[in-house]
Amino acid sequence: MSKSVTCNGRTYAWPKAPTVVVCLDGSEPGYIEQTIEAGRAPFFAKMMKDGANLLADSVIPSFTNPNNLSIITGRPPEVHGIAGNFFYDAASKTEVMMNDPKFLRAPTILRTFHEAGAKVGMVTAKDKLRLLLSNGLDYASGRAIAFSSERADKATKADNGIDNVVSFVGKPVPDVYSADLSEFVFAAGVKLMESFRPDLMYLSTTDYIQHKVGPGTKIANDFYAMIDGYLAAMDKLGAIIVATADHGMNDKHDPKTKAPNVIYLQTLFDEWLGKGAARVILPITDPYVVHHGALGSFATVHIPAGANASDLLARVKKIDGVHLALTQAEACKQFGLPADRIGDLVVTSTRHITLGTAPEKHDLSGLDEPLRSHGGLTEQRVPMIANRKLKDVPAGLRNFDVFSVALNCVA
Ligand code: ZN
Ligand code: ZN
Repeated sequence: MSKSVTCNGRTYAWPKAPTVVVCLDGSEPGYIEQTIEAGRAPFFAKMMKDGANLLADSVIPSFTNPNNLSIITGRPPEVHGIAGNFFYDAASKTEVMMNDPKFLRAPTILRTFHEAGAKVGMVTAKDKLRLLLSNGLDYASGRAIAFSSERADKATKADNGIDNVVSFVGKPVPDVYSADLSEFVFAAGVKLMESFRPDLMYLSTTDYIQHKVGPGTKIANDFYAMIDGYLAAMDKLGAIIVATADHGMNDKHDPKTKAPNVIYLQTLFDEWLGKGAARVILPITDPYVVHHGALGSFATVHIPAGANASDLLARVKKIDGVHLALTQAEACKQFGLPADRIGDLVVTSTRHITLGTAPEKHDLSGLDEPLRSHGGLTEQRVPMIANRKLKDVPAGLRNFDVFSVALNCVA
């Protein structure tokens, strides 16, 4: 019997070769295809032809943290607890960032393999995900390396399993708002594959480019051509590679005026219930809001005791551009969310519309391109592409099946 490990109720076969799972942040279907069409992604073309080219559904909210944590635990947020970048803790009446591992309720697949003796690696673009994705790794073992591009120069043997990352990768620490932040992830991945040679590695990029431009643009094609080269290099080194995305991306602006399309929910709830009586939470909000102004297509609302939820939902549903308006119980059931980390109501908006709090609360001065964003059901469809042929892929594929696909489905 060959070795396998079990994590959060799912069983994973031991890697047959160094296995790399890639999360291409914000990779709406079309970006890769258009880069291939422009003749600039020969390796992606080869993977899609000779390996596997599938589509999967992300977790809702279609935001970065809930999906990265679902991918690395193999389960939806109701299991791992990370339902957004932050949540409102009604008990302490504070808005709490969820980038600390104390909020994580499930072990990661990486940790489980590491504890079973595997050599593991993890590189993430932004530092906000590093502690969550690398939770539980034992750097003293010499079998774990985990760091972020953003803080590559701060990495130490004790905290990351590696030091001198900048000279190891051979690139300077990139600006946090740049394509280079993602390129650093792949450059590091190739170096790790050459020298450290992990059994299992997770690489996670940032969606800076996808927020800026759509598929087929020169900037997008340059970005995917860059990725193509690094994936080809890892393939040459014998790696099994499966790439997916945390969520897609859509235009969220008026095509004529280029102004963002926003429904300001806090303003509406203030009109209906009195100022500040309800609290609208946008779980996309984090310290890096320049490229989207904290505007996405998912919001959750805490309403005061005694407020009539069904009456409020009926009002929200009538707003043009609202896709779904659900009670907490309905949202938890439909999306697999943890009830204690979301509000009383959940609202999603349609393809080209975002949900905001109030106009004065959103700093849109950093938006130098018309708004593109994500969060709703219209950004749920993502690619899943492998450099090997696959067998027994489950029906109703989710992006958080990607480790199972990479470990259990490679023919
Ligand atoms: Zn993302
Ligand atoms: Zn984003």
